[in-house]
Amino acid sequence: LSDRLGSVFDKLKGRGALSEQDVRDAMREVRIALLEADVALPVVRRFIDAVTEKAIGQDVLRSVTPGQQVVKIVNDELIEMLGGEEPATLNLDAKPPVVIMMVGLQGSGKTTSTAKIAKLLKEKHGKKALMASLDVNRPAAQEQLAVLGQQASVATLPIIAGQQPVDIARRAMESARLQSADVLLLDTAGRLHVDEALMAEMKAVAGVSTPTEVLLVVDSLTGQDAVNVAKSFTDEVPLTGVVLTRMDGDARGGAALSMRFVTGKPIKFAGTGEKLDAIEAFDAKRVAGRILGMGDVVSLVEKAAAAVNQEDAEALARKMAKGQFDLDDLRMQLRQMQNMGGLGMLAGMMPGMKKAKAAMASSGMDDKVLVHMDAIIGSMTRKERANPALLNAKRKKRVAAGSGRQVQEVNKVLKMHQEMSRAMKQIKKMGGLKGLGALFG
Ligand code: GDP
Ligand code: MG
Repeated sequence: LSDRLGSVFDKLKGRGALSEQDVRDAMREVRIALLEADVALPVVRRFIDAVTEKAIGQDVLRSVTPGQQVVKIVNDELIEMLGGEEPATLNLDAKPPVVIMMVGLQGSGKTTSTAKIAKLLKEKHGKKALMASLDVNRPAAQEQLAVLGQQASVATLPIIAGQQPVDIARRAMESARLQSADVLLLDTAGRLHVDEALMAEMKAVAGVSTPTEVLLVVDSLTGQDAVNVAKSFTDEVPLTGVVLTRMDGDARGGAALSMRFVTGKPIKFAGTGEKLDAIEAFDAKRVAGRILGMGDVVSLVEKAAAAVNQEDAEALARKMAKGQFDLDDLRMQLRQMQNMGGLGMLAGMMPGMKKAKAAMASSGMDDKVLVHMDAIIGSMTRKERANPALLNAKRKKRVAAGSGRQVQEVNKVLKMHQEMSRAMKQIKKMGGLKGLGALFG
């Protein structure tokens, strides 16, 4: 433990401005990370060029090495390019029915995303939605949307066999008006590859429905191909945003950067599973983390420094100095983990976390668990959070019920807290506040 931290602190020494060599050295690593994350090659080149130019000559912060500084610049730039820290939202500011048109290749997740967004609009925003499938190419495509509509309790346009997409769109508009729907979602047909017939159809549908949002649905596992798909659609229909699906899979997020580069449009949602509530606002920070990869202690320290709120850090440092670390502090840590891109990012970063992470992995924990743990701590009283020893069997049962989790999971939270407290005490022995100050920057 002390070796590890020692080597980190050794590297935390500043020196002047970034030289061209510093930047080029670091960029070689960045380039590999981008390619591994499946960012399309032309995008990698343009990104590297832009950031290289920006980075050369910048001051190196006192507390970091040139390499770290470059990584920080790259990270900031990635977040910025992916859309910044504020998630992009849907524009519903039009005369109802506001039309949302979904476009994309076959199998990209259009139909599923249509139903997910409709459900979200209904449940989170109290909107009355109508969905219509314009996919007359694929057998049973219209029925698929009807089934999803039932699952989501969102109305779908009745199917009339033999009707063409533009006519269905017109009928959907009419029906949405009659039902006083707030939002009309049009699920269009896809193709295996972009072709002229598809583009003509998209144009015609957009022509009759004047959509407020045209969302390009892209499978995040699409690697090098992402650029071509995005280009074709961008040239033909007025895209307003992107939905990236299958972010629950192995995707390293590269498609997100490619999409942003080519379309210039915000990524509005990330699909994270097959279920209808598996959709999230796109989180640029998190995806930037995914793209840059993990495992490098130094760059993680750098990210930690950026993510940890200064004040929180100071308060925490004071508590640690006194050998106190309560469940409120653990909760803060959990939230920071989420900010930094989940458990995956934390490999070996925090002292004590390596062990905790191994324990988590072996018990089958994933990022969702952070949310659960947060809920568990949230169900405790303030006194319990400050003094976990109060949590006897009866109280644990109450906390479990309150958070909708199992007593076993409550125990896991408490165990994690114990392990972290122990690690914190070790830090204190090693040099305490001064070292922590550098760690939290
Ligand atoms: P479409 O042809 O573009 O309409 O694609 P579909 O909506 O029919 O989706 C194709 C397949 O991908 C279906 O099996 C979906 O359940 C699945 N799918 C869609 N979005 C996601 C996602 O975000 N994550 C995962 N794991 N599967 C998804
Ligand atoms: Mg479909």
